[in-house]
Amino acid sequence: MQVFKKKSALIHCLSLLKEKNKQIGFVPTMGALHKGHRSLVEKSIEDNDFTVVSIFVNPTQFNNTEDLKKYPKTLDEDLKLLKNIGCDVVFIPSVEEIYAQTVVSKSYSFDGIENQMEGKFRKGHFDGVATIVQTLFEIINPNRAYFGEKDFQQLQIVRKLVEKETIPVEIIGCPIYREKDGLAMSSRNVRLSKEQRNKAPFIYQTLKKAVSFTKTKSIKEIYEFVKTEFATTSLDLEYFTIAEENTLIEVSKVNFTKKNRAFIAVDVEAIRLIDNLSL
Ligand code: AMP
Repeated sequence: MQVFKKKSALIHCLSLLKEKNKQIGFVPTMGALHKGHRSLVEKSIEDNDFTVVSIFVNPTQFNNTEDLKKYPKTLDEDLKLLKNIGCDVVFIPSVEEIYAQTVVSKSYSFDGIENQMEGKFRKGHFDGVATIVQTLFEIINPNRAYFGEKDFQQLQIVRKLVEKETIPVEIIGCPIYREKDGLAMSSRNVRLSKEQRNKAPFIYQTLKKAVSFTKTKSIKEIYEFVKTEFATTSLDLEYFTIAEENTLIEVSKVNFTKKNRAFIAVDVEAIRLIDNLSL
């Protein structure tokens, strides 16, 4: 497994493969890798001749400096994991290598998707995400790129980005990988205290109940149920929304002919966890 810090060296390595018509799969990450990341990398290895993983904690997608400062970093373990599963290349650029002197995002419009859910609570987040994803696509020029449904809104933003900027890459969405107790795997989970970690599966349990109620209850009743459930805990419900998958616009009635999905964001004493579940 080769590790590159400089984009010029990575571009050179990949150009040799492209000359030989090799298929390149790409998995962007922020490191602190877990089994969710691993499932994306394994899918890329299965689908492609060559797999590139990037590890880059992108400052422009953090609207909270404390969250950026506390973002877990486990580079040695990450590299071991990637080597063990057969990843070909890891790209670990510095902030300067990506942004030069000006650490700012480009400004994008994604037909309103960017203003829903995470967009309301994390101002500028998706401009930061789109900026880094577009930059990495330009450097790596992959045939396929893999994103988790864990960050479903991000996945839809990336699909829009590729369509709007006509970037020739196939975007593959991968299912959410969960702990045995249902908690969606996330790099931020390691920051949870034992007590918080014991409470966190409540998020998925409530999400599952809410989704099962869509067969018998109105949307209003389901929203009330979720609110009431969280009111009895120390977990802070930031939003719960049932939305149409493509537009991410909240639905007023469940429509089983269109794809709907339930989304949730919860603040566990300043550690923000998100999850979602298809209807
Ligand atoms: P991150 O390192 O959090 O930026 O995540 C890198 C990629 O891994 C993103 O496409 C995430 O959606 C995906 N990912 C994170 N957690 C999970 C999970 N539990 N299951 C599947 N994919 C995930």
